[in-house]
Amino acid sequence: MAFLKYTLSFLILLVVSDCSWAEEKQLSVSELLWRANKDVVRTEKEPFVVDDIAYDNENERNADPCTSEDCMWSKSADGNVYVPYVIARHYSPREHAIIKRGLESFSSVSCIRFVERDAQIDYLSIQSDNGCWSYVGRRGNAQTVSLDRSGCLYHNTVQHELLHALGFNHEQCRSDRDQYIRVLWENIMPGWEYNFDKINTLNQNTPYDYTSIMQYHRYAFSGNGKPTMQPIPNANVDFGTSTEMSKNDILRLNRLYKCW
Ligand SMILES: [Zn+2]
Repeated sequence: MAFLKYTLSFLILLVVSDCSWAEEKQLSVSELLWRANKDVVRTEKEPFVVDDIAYDNENERNADPCTSEDCMWSKSADGNVYVPYVIARHYSPREHAIIKRGLESFSSVSCIRFVERDAQIDYLSIQSDNGCWSYVGRRGNAQTVSLDRSGCLYHNTVQHELLHALGFNHEQCRSDRDQYIRVLWENIMPGWEYNFDKINTLNQNTPYDYTSIMQYHRYAFSGNGKPTMQPIPNANVDFGTSTEMSKNDILRLNRLYKCW
């Protein structure tokens, strides 16, 4: 009887832990980013980070450096774009593997090739800093991509931060977003409105994409539990629930880097 009880509780435990794992797997990238970043307290040593985007200083936030400066990674003679990286040693083998899988996922769908740094000057320094964040585009020299061991190690968060590093911003900040998303300013947590600023983004003639991995969900930064964004014209369309790069994310990447 005792054995049966033990086996039963073990089975229940298995089912419960498996459910929570499944639930976590289904969280959208913006929910995961929110969860990982919401309680982060920034120190003076860190760059200026807004949401999950890093800037050298506060003034830079007004102008997207990618469109005002050259922020792309350079193309090699063989047509590929090699982006060197270093992964910090503090990750476990499992965490390392998640990051590697994210880096490698770009090879099969684009000309982006993340390669281990040899002696290249510009490179991504992937490390577990405070929360999940990245600069937008190539910044020169070592640039941090922070993938916090606590909360950022999922395939979609890795892809999301790498897309920032390649030059892309959030979908809801797109220059043409007002035709597709109505921002419900009154529901945004006071002080967080800047996350919905429109930016002169690199749209590459791709349509606005509700399924982009760069699109936040309906309740992002809500201060009152009500939606902060509503799709236009159909308010009921699902959006911001992506768990991996969408077709348009891939298309935009290929167009920006002229992969074809
Ligand atoms: Zn982001």
